[in-house]
Amino acid sequence: MSQFHWYPGHMAKARRDIIEELKLIDVCIELLDARAPKATKNPDIEQLSNGKKRIVILNKADLSSKEGNQKWAEYYKSLGRDMAQVSLKEDRGIREVRSLLLKAAEEKHKRDASRGIKLKRPVRALVCGIPNVGKSTLINSMAKKGVTKTGNRPGVTKGKQWITVSKEIELLDSPGLLWPKIEDEESSVYLALIGSMNDEAINTDDLTVRLISLLRERYPRILEDVYGADADDSVEEILSKASAAGNMVKKGGVPDLDRAAKSMLDSFRNGKLGRITLEFP
Ligand code: GDP
Repeated sequence: MSQFHWYPGHMAKARRDIIEELKLIDVCIELLDARAPKATKNPDIEQLSNGKKRIVILNKADLSSKEGNQKWAEYYKSLGRDMAQVSLKEDRGIREVRSLLLKAAEEKHKRDASRGIKLKRPVRALVCGIPNVGKSTLINSMAKKGVTKTGNRPGVTKGKQWITVSKEIELLDSPGLLWPKIEDEESSVYLALIGSMNDEAINTDDLTVRLISLLRERYPRILEDVYGADADDSVEEILSKASAAGNMVKKGGVPDLDRAAKSMLDSFRNGKLGRITLEFP
């Protein structure tokens, strides 16, 4: 996995695009994966957003552990950051996102008023994040409840679509794509596990081995409950038990370890293994 490269061309374009998009907005909604808030954060955002208000949203909180969610909530609270933990796919948390945006609007209007600007222009927000954290899902659920207006109208940036969420809030109708920042080997494993790196760049067998060692160390009960395996079992033994549990056999009753490995990865990704937080503050 250390050979993984985010194509430089892509990265340069994503960087140019987001610099342009950030110019249009007042608030950056920084979307992270609740299972791996450190690995899914792109540290460049601090410099790119250049002092703009940022709101942190930890999405997929249905897939992360309750204990993990609590620790991350305490962490962000201790930093005094505006943060919400949401599960957008289940339509949970949109209200919190809206109320954080409203708060940002109020702050902006106060700042404007202190500079003698009386007009209360809506705050404009952009959803920013690396691939697969739920940017489109967030934009879609906001759009469902709002009205979309297209550019080429007075007060609306040309060629851009804005969703009027309320009279105080407008959201840019396209995601601000950030590239995954691979700071160390562990982050790259987490990014691969949660599906934020393209699967072609990943050796899925290696990844499953990493998943198994992670489960062994931190979530042995899952191995026991889901696969009837023991944390002391070898990787082969665990996969063999997983193939038996899922009835995955090749001709002649030989356990299909490849299929079991892929299925284990899928089960992690879609929450069938249970709620798992990969990293803590
Ligand atoms: P984007 O690449 O950041 O735009 O991410 P998408 O909005 O396309 O979402 C990526 C995947 O995550 C999709 O399969 C979504 O259905 C799924 N997803 C989004 N939000 C949640 C959530 O809160 N919980 C779960 N379990 N899945 C989610």
